Amino acid sequence: MAIYRNFINGEWVESISSKTADNINPANTDDVLGTIKQATRDEARSAVEAASEAFRSWRSTPAPQRGRIVARFARLLEEDKENLSQILTREEGKTVAESRGELQRSINVADFCAGESRRMTGETIPSELPLNFAYTIKQPLGVVACVTPWNFPVAIPVWKIAPALTAGNTVVFKPASLTPATAIRIVELFEEAGIPRGVLNLILGSGSEAGDEIINHPAVRAVSFTGSNSVGVRLYEECSRRGAKVQCEMGGKNPVVILEDADLDLAVESTAQGAFGSTGQRCTATSRAIVVNEIADEFVSRIAERAKNLRIGDGADTQTEVGPVVDSNQFKSVLHYINVGREDGAELVCGGDLPRGAGLNKGYFVQPTVFDKVKPDMRIGREEIFGPVLSVLRVKDFDEAMQVANDSEYGLSSSIFSNDAARIFRFVDEIETGMTHINSPTTGGEAHIPFGGIKSTGIGEREQGSTALDFYTELKVVYVDYTGRKREGNLY
Ligand code: NAP
Ligand code: MG
Repeated sequence: MAIYRNFINGEWVESISSKTADNINPANTDDVLGTIKQATRDEARSAVEAASEAFRSWRSTPAPQRGRIVARFARLLEEDKENLSQILTREEGKTVAESRGELQRSINVADFCAGESRRMTGETIPSELPLNFAYTIKQPLGVVACVTPWNFPVAIPVWKIAPALTAGNTVVFKPASLTPATAIRIVELFEEAGIPRGVLNLILGSGSEAGDEIINHPAVRAVSFTGSNSVGVRLYEECSRRGAKVQCEMGGKNPVVILEDADLDLAVESTAQGAFGSTGQRCTATSRAIVVNEIADEFVSRIAERAKNLRIGDGADTQTEVGPVVDSNQFKSVLHYINVGREDGAELVCGGDLPRGAGLNKGYFVQPTVFDKVKPDMRIGREEIFGPVLSVLRVKDFDEAMQVANDSEYGLSSSIFSNDAARIFRFVDEIETGMTHINSPTTGGEAHIPFGGIKSTGIGEREQGSTALDFYTELKVVYVDYTGRKREGNLY
């Protein structure tokens, strides 16, 4: 069986650690992909040191040349798309169709970043003094840590690593412990694309040890983190104390608002897609359906019908629509929330149990579940479940829908189903989320469009799109005085 290795200073090295963890296929726990040896603090430190050493020469490599390596990576990723999709499904559980979608998104992101390498422009700004002007330049930060979750183990690392490298930073990549195989393949493809020694390093280890060592290393000038709020907020506190830049993308409790004039077929189909796609394990998953009373009975019976008919199974089977949840912890957590929903008095409409059937007894499968009559103060109406569970909250009208939708600590994504332009634009204006969708699911995004949330969901700049490189660069302002004389008066 494969023993996964770290990538430090251009070499694949096996950890000396005796702490190990198996990488298990969540659709069939007998299927073990490999074993991770949890990197030690020393190993994590040596990765940061290698990145620190490599920074000077990478920084002075012209941006378009850095971009050429990222472009080569994009082509290699494209060639490897099918292979890596299969690894992703086997490691994380999502369906192959979903894995292929994630791979395409990653290819698009890498292509986008390669293009940005020729657009690292600044501004020229006229001065209020004669024969003076100013300009700005974007400069890299130094060593950047990319700390990523298991739910998009290819796309999220790529949307952090590609812009970080394009901007001229060197990287220490700490993926989630649950998804080492996809992380390794990403780094192998960068290696094949010609990334110089030390510029990209991979540490496979636990967050609390290797991760902690990396993010607290004084040479790490920035940390880009995606994951849970509990980890993200602590990480932000620790890093900001030493003045390191931090970007955190964290939890969500994404609402869809469905008004009485909505196209109900479309609303049901899109809500099912948003709630149960990727087994509900997307940060942008639809977890609250806020439905006006007049159409609530109809909506609930249709979404329940749709949920019951979804084909659950191994994501590697092309017939499967809903794969397993990622591991035993997530499995226990989702089942726990289903119990909490029952105990708090929400009405279980469908699901709520383990699916029965051939091939379903060896994986972490949960039935797509719908709760009706969820109250805004119930835990299943407030807390992120990160599984195939939808809470329906009934409201009397648009105003109450807005109030309920915004009554959340989170603010990642949202959507509305209606054909009334006035209420749609009021929703767009008032909804407290970083992204919103009109007549389409809360999920999904594009490589060249900024991504991220507000409130407790997001700290720091948006990722991807026009803002992708902002986090990974500092702006330097240069004042130019070509009078050749002592400055007259002061600039205020
Ligand atoms: P997590 O437990 O917070 O882990 C995220 C990463 O942080 C992992 O690599 C983890 O390593 C590492 N980590 C844990 N403790 C650490 C520490 N003390 N110091 C440094 N690193 C540490 O999150 P997850 O369970 O993998 O992912 C699910 C969460 O991600 C959900 O809350 C979801 O909403 C969120 N998410 C948000 C977005 C978004 O864009 N807003 C996108 C996707 C996912 P280990 O794996 O070794 O613990
Ligand atoms: Mg696994």
